[in-house]
Amino acid sequence: VSLATELAAIVGAEHVEADVWLTDASGLGASAPLLVHPASAEEVRRTVAWAYERGVAIVPVGGRSGYSGGIVPEGRDPLVAVALDRLNRVRSFDPLLWRIEVEAGVTTATVQRLARENGLLFPPDPGAPEQSQIGGNLATNAGGPHAFKYGVASHWVTGIEAVIAPGELARFGGPTRKDVAGYDLRGLLIGSEGTLGIITSAWLRLMPAPATAIPVIAGYPTIAAGVQAIEQALASNVVPAAIEYLQGDVLQHAPPPFLDASEIRFLVICEAESEAERDALLDALGPGARTYDATAVWRWRGGVSLVVRGVKGEKLAEDIAVPLDRLGEAIERTLEIGARNSLDACSWGHAGDGNIHSTFMFDPDDASDRARADAAAEDLFALARDLGGTVSGEHGVGKLKRGQLIGQWSEAAVGAHEAIKHALDPEGLFNPGTKDPRPVTAALVGDGSSTGIAS
Ligand SMILES: Cc1cc2nc3c(=O)[nH]c(=O)nc-3n(C[C@H](O)[C@H](O)[C@H](O)COP(=O)(O)OP(=O)(O)OC[C@H]3O[C@@H](n4cnc5c(N)ncnc54)[C@H](O)[C@@H]3O)c2cc1C
Repeated sequence: VSLATELAAIVGAEHVEADVWLTDASGLGASAPLLVHPASAEEVRRTVAWAYERGVAIVPVGGRSGYSGGIVPEGRDPLVAVALDRLNRVRSFDPLLWRIEVEAGVTTATVQRLARENGLLFPPDPGAPEQSQIGGNLATNAGGPHAFKYGVASHWVTGIEAVIAPGELARFGGPTRKDVAGYDLRGLLIGSEGTLGIITSAWLRLMPAPATAIPVIAGYPTIAAGVQAIEQALASNVVPAAIEYLQGDVLQHAPPPFLDASEIRFLVICEAESEAERDALLDALGPGARTYDATAVWRWRGGVSLVVRGVKGEKLAEDIAVPLDRLGEAIERTLEIGARNSLDACSWGHAGDGNIHSTFMFDPDDASDRARADAAAEDLFALARDLGGTVSGEHGVGKLKRGQLIGQWSEAAVGAHEAIKHALDPEGLFNPGTKDPRPVTAALVGDGSSTGIAS
């Protein structure tokens, strides 16, 4: 009996696919020998139990919007990719208690919309909400502009249901808002990028929606002046809902439709949630600051990444984060790294969190261009470590940034990281090649025509 036939007995023959190309927003891709679409947590459990019994590697697949190649199959054959798209039910919704329980395949936009229609807010706002799933948001512990005030995805989760090795359905927390009875295994699964288990549902916290959202925006002639304005905003005694920046080259590639940015070398966007906050932020950002329509600002901001990708056909967009006092240096040195590697570079990001999307644009059909982009990324990771920061503030490590933690964390800390992986996934079957703290050399599965996975 073939593996596909055995899986068909669990999820139904029409929900088993063979040789499926899996790719995400990073541009990396490879073929999965088998992809299944279970309909329930119980079918996920039976799939994992089946895989664990036979030594089959398991790759969880969410909305495929990740930026680090986390869903790209690699390194093991046999392998089964497990898509969560059919786990798309809202299990319970209690608007008056500010809480909702959803299955992993529910999209981010669905939760945001349900909250909004009930006067509530689900603050995590990673930039591809119609595509990304709650399971993927939690597996990457996603952030977004409003993480500055409201925190990343994990802040909004009181419980997780997940399938762990060797095929058990377990609950970590639930609807209870406080729970310190055990180790924080809920927190451990969040951000684990599918390497410790498969999240099947989550209990999420919501909050009353702020009465208003007012972007306060100002442009500056230099990076230094813009970074100084950010520090003034932080000193203003207001907690802006977001503090974003865009370095001048981004504004040339993706000009904002609501202001003339032709002379601007650095743009700061803060968001106020009351008139008093607006006035304080207008004051902090200086005489050029103005308010704009929130919908227009965030619609444009949400499209920046894709426009920049189109400039040369592809981009390597990283998500390093640095301590706030090193922000200006990280932005300047991103441009230097681009110049040193003969690549057009630019950056934008979540300034308040010191989280910058350093971006190198390249032609995907030009092998030397791509090699220089990979070299630039290595320089960038070294820079993040030099500045006391991290190689990933929000996209996760996936395949792109694996092997980089060893320089960032001490040997003892990396050892603890590996001990946890071994304890929860003793056979190493969950998402092999993803989030590896040390450099590994792994063979691709599939037809080997993957785009640019460095070993
Ligand atoms: C235009 C754009 C803007 C973005 N902006 C932001 C941003 O502002 N902030 C930010 O943090 N991110 C951002 N992202 C990337 C972000 O990580 C994803 O959008 C999102 O969180 C990933 O969700 P997904 O469902 O698409 O996951 P996928 O890409 O499908 O998977 C991501 C990882 O999670 C694992 N995974 C997925 N589902 C599960 C599950 N149920 N259980 C266990 N593991 C699972 C996968 O194996 C993989 O390792 C952006 C992406 C795009 C395309």
